[in-house]
Amino acid sequence: MYRTNTCGELRLANAGQTVTLAGWVQRSRDLGGMTFVDLRDRYGITQLAFNMETNAPLCEQARRLGREFVVQATGVVIERSSKNSKIPTGEIEIEVAELRVLNEAKTPPFTIEEQSDGGDDLRMRYRYLDIRRSPVRRNLEMRHRMAMLVRNYLSDRDFLEIETPMLIKSTPEGARDFVVPSRMNPGEFYALPQSPQQYKQLLMVAGMDRYFQIVRCFRDEDLRADRQPEFTQIDCEMSFVEQEDVLCMFEGLARHLFKEMKGIDFGQFQRITWHDAMRRFGSDKPDMRFGMEFKEITDVAKGRGFGLFDSSELVVGIVAEGCADYTRKQLDALTDFVKRPQVGAGGLVYVKYNADGTFKSSVDKFFDADALKAVADAMGAKPGDLMLILCGPAMKTRVQLCALRLEMGSRLGLRDPQQFAPLWVVDFPLLEWDDETQRFYAMHHPFTAPKPEDEALLDDPARWGDIRANAYDIVINGCEVGGGSIRIHDRTLQNKMFHTLGFTDEQAAAQFGFLMDAFTYGAPPHAGLAFGFDRLCSIFAGADSIRDFIAFPKNNAGRDVMSGSPSPISQEQLDELQIKVDVK
Ligand code: ASP
Repeated sequence: MYRTNTCGELRLANAGQTVTLAGWVQRSRDLGGMTFVDLRDRYGITQLAFNMETNAPLCEQARRLGREFVVQATGVVIERSSKNSKIPTGEIEIEVAELRVLNEAKTPPFTIEEQSDGGDDLRMRYRYLDIRRSPVRRNLEMRHRMAMLVRNYLSDRDFLEIETPMLIKSTPEGARDFVVPSRMNPGEFYALPQSPQQYKQLLMVAGMDRYFQIVRCFRDEDLRADRQPEFTQIDCEMSFVEQEDVLCMFEGLARHLFKEMKGIDFGQFQRITWHDAMRRFGSDKPDMRFGMEFKEITDVAKGRGFGLFDSSELVVGIVAEGCADYTRKQLDALTDFVKRPQVGAGGLVYVKYNADGTFKSSVDKFFDADALKAVADAMGAKPGDLMLILCGPAMKTRVQLCALRLEMGSRLGLRDPQQFAPLWVVDFPLLEWDDETQRFYAMHHPFTAPKPEDEALLDDPARWGDIRANAYDIVINGCEVGGGSIRIHDRTLQNKMFHTLGFTDEQAAAQFGFLMDAFTYGAPPHAGLAFGFDRLCSIFAGADSIRDFIAFPKNNAGRDVMSGSPSPISQEQLDELQIKVDVK
């Protein structure tokens, strides 16, 4: 037997027991007469004590232990003379009688402590050592707990976890596929699933009624910060449901997670239409931890001789409460912020509503005190507040103001990662125009159903941009953590949708024929959604990066620096696959 106990479980009540522990040497301290070794495993740290007087050879052996040696120690649990209240085992130590080195270790390239001295790259290269550190380990433990809660919650409600294939057919819609060459079918390729979308719909046709899967998905997108080429979804689908049923079911799941993981009881989540979200917050995933709602002041702002306002489709701003005392320097920093290419505004107009009731603005030349008062009233500002205003084409300006709103929220400390603001965004547009390719794309995916009352608009190409979908996202703290839709289950409507997206009948049949065929054999009304599991974990932990919640993540260039993938393959492998590689 390697051990009788773990390094995290012994307490004063165990004093007098003879135990055997096994683990890694976190650190050893040689105090002359005594040597102490902190022994670590996944469960905690227990102090081993070696006494020079009573057992000199053993004590000398202990002194020779290096960091991260794997050892086994047997001894008696005793009460410590100097207790450590910081760790649960801090009241006891093991008076070691026998010590065995199970494996030696090279000195690790960084310290395996709560706070490591290793940089990101180094820790990723030796991720197995990084995972020994408690912050990373705790993240993985939390992820496991979340996964178990999800599984149990859904299983208790008759959802079956069903695995769907990883080697599937490539489809052109959505993101770019990762492809896998087929040796047995030279010149042909599988794709790795971007999501199990079509399979879960087929499972509904198959009568499985309620499906879920905690499943890996793959998207070959240009990596933006904190995107992973492979990530995990909690993927779900239900039959014979309306939007309300789906929202209730998965709001229930989210509430359950908040309760179990964070001890927070949420009532009903807020709901907002996509259109309102864009108008009030400039985003389809508004951060609702704070207000600072947009105030449209186009009417009040125009006609004062200020050309920029006069020529703009929209003049819109936010009120930063209590910020009228912002200095020139602070205002310049905000102007620089909105002018950054990532935000792209031409400039920023400010109006200070001073505590004494006077005004100071960057448009004083055009706006006298009365006019500024009218602006303040239109924006609901009070003395002491600062108004920040942008203008330009409506949608673009809203998106720019959204960036400024979030920036102000951060500056004012209104985005506490331990505070949670979940909401549903509903009624997304069905179609999205792409300037580059001059065509409409499905905003969600081609299987999403239009709202029944908007369905007729499919016959009028001029109105395609106005069609609303029965599609919804769940948003927490400004992050989209999940999304889904009511599906089209009618073949005629699905055909129409493919036509709208520019597919010929042949193209649609070649790409989606199996799904279309299945729909002719009695497809039930169905709907579903998928949560991004990595993101959900990071938000629940109040952390920024999803990488910290993935055991072996890729870096920002999509590389696994530990294993060195992607990598070239041998000529034999290429020949077998009949693939010619011509990389310059
Ligand atoms: N398959 C969708 C996605 O990956 C989610 C859904 O509609 O269920 O975003």
